[in-house]
Formats: sequence, structure tokens, C-alpha cells
Amino acid sequence: VKVEEKLYQNRYIVDESRPHIQIRNADVCKSCDSQACTVCCPAACYSRNETGGVTLVTDGCLECGTCRVVCQDKGNIAWDYPRGGYGISYKFG
Ligand code: SF4
Repeated sequence: VKVEEKLYQNRYIVDESRPHIQIRNADVCKSCDSQACTVCCPAACYSRNETGGVTLVTDGCLECGTCRVVCQDKGNIAWDYPRGGYGISYKFG
């Protein structure tokens, strides 16, 4: 079974009004050489955009914490778990 097929088994309840991860300062992303978040996120929540910055869509977030770690030196990601009842439900634990 491919990873993508396993991920498809998971279910999400998106908290529309309150994304649990936010980019603090878009200008910091534009001047970031690696933009590691666009490569490291297993759910591809981060993508390089046309302005040279980074766009974040948290809907499929696996709550793994990788983005927070790779951005630790810049501290440009405000990361929290979703509110109770929201976020991912893992089928395989
Ligand atoms: Fe992606 Fe993990 Fe960060 Fe969620 S916590 S946005 S899955 S790297």
C-alpha cells in the first residue's frame, strides 16, 4: 500500500475560523534560503508561491510537528494543536 493510499484513510475536521498553524511574517519566508517547510511537510501543506514566499494550507495537516522543527532557527511558524474535536483522526493510530 502506498503512503498516499494510507493517508487517504485519515479523516479531518477542519476548523475554518482558526488555523492551528500560522506563518508569523511572510517577509521572513521570502528571504529564507531553504524554505525547508515546502519540502519536509509530509502533507504538502506548504508551497512556494508566485511572490517568492510560502503559502500555507493547514487542512491536511498530520500534526507531526516537522515544520516547527525545520523553522526553529527563524521561529516563523506559530504552531499549536487544533482545538478539541478538530484536526486529524488516524485510522491506523
Ligand atoms: Fe506538515 Fe507536519 Fe507541519 Fe502539519 S505539522 S503542516 S503535517 S510538517
